[in-house]
Amino acid sequence: MTSSMDSLDAQLSANLVTLAGQGLRRSLRVMESARGPGITCAGRELINFSSNDYLGLASHPALAQAMSEAALRWGVGSTASRLICGTTAEHAALEEELAVAKGTEAALVFSTGVAAATGTIPALVGKGDVIIMDKLAHSCLIDGARASDATLRIFPHNDLEKLESHLSWAREKHPDARVMIITESVFSMDGDLAPLREIVELKERYGALLFVDEAHAVGVLGNGAQGLTGGLGLNDRIEIQMGTLGKALGVSGGYIAGSRMLIDHLINRARSFIFSTAPSPAVASACRAGLRIVQSQEGESLKVRLREHIRLLSAGLGMPTATSAIVPLILGSEVRALAGASRLSDAGFFVPAIRYPTVPRHTARLRITLSAAHEPDQIRALAAALTMSSAD
Ligand SMILES: *Cc1c(COP(=O)(O)O)cnc(C)c1O
Repeated sequence: MTSSMDSLDAQLSANLVTLAGQGLRRSLRVMESARGPGITCAGRELINFSSNDYLGLASHPALAQAMSEAALRWGVGSTASRLICGTTAEHAALEEELAVAKGTEAALVFSTGVAAATGTIPALVGKGDVIIMDKLAHSCLIDGARASDATLRIFPHNDLEKLESHLSWAREKHPDARVMIITESVFSMDGDLAPLREIVELKERYGALLFVDEAHAVGVLGNGAQGLTGGLGLNDRIEIQMGTLGKALGVSGGYIAGSRMLIDHLINRARSFIFSTAPSPAVASACRAGLRIVQSQEGESLKVRLREHIRLLSAGLGMPTATSAIVPLILGSEVRALAGASRLSDAGFFVPAIRYPTVPRHTARLRITLSAAHEPDQIRALAAALTMSSAD
């Protein structure tokens, strides 16, 4: 027994050594404190430009209060899956409020965004159907697509011509199939936007369904928590809108918003929903508080502040104003990206090096994410450090 364990460890160790040689080994970084945009890591204080806490709600007192009050009222655990006895009034209210926020008939909350994607895609398409997906779609969308057994076609990032040729192929070769386009509205590692209007027109022309992941759009683009879909007035022309409660909304969880029928179907068919313990009611309550703030005057002010930060960093780097709160600096090799991150860390900034397989090979990058919680001076200082380090 010991010897087979030893030999597994020896094999795994050889693998990790190879990864390290390629600059691809990863390890956990333990945050000793985190509050707003400052973190303490390995005893050092750094200004954090890596979180997805776009509005600073993760440490907002109203969310903390909602969570602690709900924990005292409901207990900390949901005790069972949503379909057994894990659905509390907090979950139901959150789902109603999400549907209103997204401009859909209904919404369904999952324990994570990953669970929302991997449960929903196979619940809607299967063998004989076709999925057409953007090349840069998040790994959970790829996992959902693979688990579905549908035929998968990838189009180059935001390439409408290639998307249309896949649609036309699917209609010809699989006339009776369900065809689903999957994309993100704000791309997680590039921060650019999908041409959603054009994609909606194409999917209508070819009778396809559209699944849009709004993880990095909600709370950043559009009014309230509309995201880009609602911001463009497309919410009732997109069948499946997905998002996370762990980014701008400040807590954790994922959701699908769409028709009442879609949600009823998922309650019966999405395996990651059916067979998983419900999120804590305290988490649902904190999400409701986050959603309330995003839709309030305070939320609009936070978004204005975030946009100002995006403008400030873009100007400081001498580039056109970024379209979202994600600003990637593509450096190419893993080694360059790691060296860049380490230089920034020495200067007091935490900006992560993002490497394969999170991004394609040879596109390793520094990924800066901005928050309303930053101070303008922190952003100016980062821009200065970046322009200095690229000069040497
Ligand atoms: C973060 C993210 C997810 C996953 O959401 P979680 O709630 O973190 O599981 C899905 N899609 C995209 C594009 C993301 O960035």
